[in-house]
Amino acid sequence: MFVNDAVVKEMLEKVKPAKLVAATKYIDEKEIEKLENCGCLYFGENRVQAFLEKYEQYHGQGHWHFIGTLQKNKVKYIIDKVELIHSVNSFHLIDELEKQAQKRGLKVHILIQVNIAKEESKHGFDEEEMDQVMEYLSHCPSLIVDGLMMMAPHIEVQQTRIYFRKTRELLETLKTKYPQYPLHELSMGMSEDYYIALEEGATIVRIGRALFKE
Ligand SMILES: *Cc1c(COP(=O)(O)O)cnc(C)c1O
Repeated sequence: MFVNDAVVKEMLEKVKPAKLVAATKYIDEKEIEKLENCGCLYFGENRVQAFLEKYEQYHGQGHWHFIGTLQKNKVKYIIDKVELIHSVNSFHLIDELEKQAQKRGLKVHILIQVNIAKEESKHGFDEEEMDQVMEYLSHCPSLIVDGLMMMAPHIEVQQTRIYFRKTRELLETLKTKYPQYPLHELSMGMSEDYYIALEEGATIVRIGRALFKE
């Protein structure tokens, strides 16, 4: 797929002051440069192998985020290359991130993925587990918890609103309870539902298909 320049520029304005992370799984490195030329400077990959290939070939000023499911054994390949990992969804993954960050003397910014709609098929912690997660993270000095990430269920778009709202409310609760963490980012909303996510307080939207054309 190819970058739709006009749409990208328009989207950057539309989502302001939220950050637009372009989901780059649909495009190659040449198109990523075009995104940058449109002023879009945040790229989100969801597969480690594809990320590494694009990262190698890309020499611009943009920033890389990791947005997909991250396997423990792949952490070491990306940890020093991405600015934010959106998809931290298990205690094992937290352990590995802390271990690899310590090894390199890095501070690593992460978002905790929540399965707010409690879908069987989705990754992420349950809302009820979040206190345990926060407690666990207090033993991980190398990890900086910037906020939460969620993916809305595949239901009628208007019905996703409640899940975005619940995620924002969860973030606010956690912020009050755990003032030691930054917790200022809410990564939610994609091509279909980003405008609802923004109305409900998203600070980062991850958008793919809507930015590209065949
Ligand atoms: C692909 C992807 C997106 C963007 O999806 P679109 O529907 O193409 O906008 C957002 N988040 C994640 C984790 C993705 O893999």
